[in-house]
Amino acid sequence: MAQTSGTPAPTDGIRYKRVLLKVSGEALMGQREYGLDPEVVNRVASEVKAVVELGVQVSLVIGGGNIFRGVKGAASGMERASADYIGMLATVMNALSMQSALERMNVTTRVQSAIPMASISEPYIRRRAIRHMEKGRVVIFAAGTGNPFFTTDTAAALRASEMGCDALLKGTQVDGVYTADPKKDPTATRYEHLTYLDVLAQDLQVMDASAISLARENHIPILVFSIHTPGAFAEVMAGRGRYTIVSEERE
Ligand code: UDP
Repeated sequence: MAQTSGTPAPTDGIRYKRVLLKVSGEALMGQREYGLDPEVVNRVASEVKAVVELGVQVSLVIGGGNIFRGVKGAASGMERASADYIGMLATVMNALSMQSALERMNVTTRVQSAIPMASISEPYIRRRAIRHMEKGRVVIFAAGTGNPFFTTDTAAALRASEMGCDALLKGTQVDGVYTADPKKDPTATRYEHLTYLDVLAQDLQVMDASAISLARENHIPILVFSIHTPGAFAEVMAGRGRYTIVSEERE
């Protein structure tokens, strides 16, 4: 991938040139039951800034589960597609919050929405998004895929594929994929490496199955790490720190 003006050459030891980070809406809630915790949003934004400063081209997909989840809306009697559209709108609110936090830290950003909302964001245009990243701007993809019955995990894998990202990052509450929930089971152990098929066959909670399949088809490794550990995102970019990698072959 050619370096163009705007992006510094990646710092030595950095393994990835262009990445997409998926953060769930719930990861931005902090201790709250609902919505956003501005302190957490700022902390995540500073993690992103640190990686941009390493010369890595960064794009983001933020979920909406902290505000609205389509499945839940449907369970209470709403038509599923309508509920999903509300969920997509929730991701736009989160994207704008993250944009604002990043811009306050002098990181240039663009929000591109899969559902056109001309007054507040650009429409999603693949080649324009790539160009933004080449110029060192962080592109935040909002409104998921723009289609009901999908999730933001799938949107993340889709956009990472379209952008030609060389890694898909999933920032979670813990530092990788475990045999069981480490917050509930003290004997749970962390996987260093998994194949896409391991994740699918064992139904491990990494990303949903369509996201895993898409990443697999497009040979994009998925790196699962803790979004709450300061400096972890930058460490993962250098192949250091604690994370689980999901790829085709066992290393
Ligand atoms: N959604 C959708 N299509 C998409 C992405 C998201 O319909 O391409 C809706 C869906 O209702 C979902 C909600 O938006 O429940 C919020 O996204 P998600 O649950 O993936 O957020 P996260 O769990 O990552 O916070």
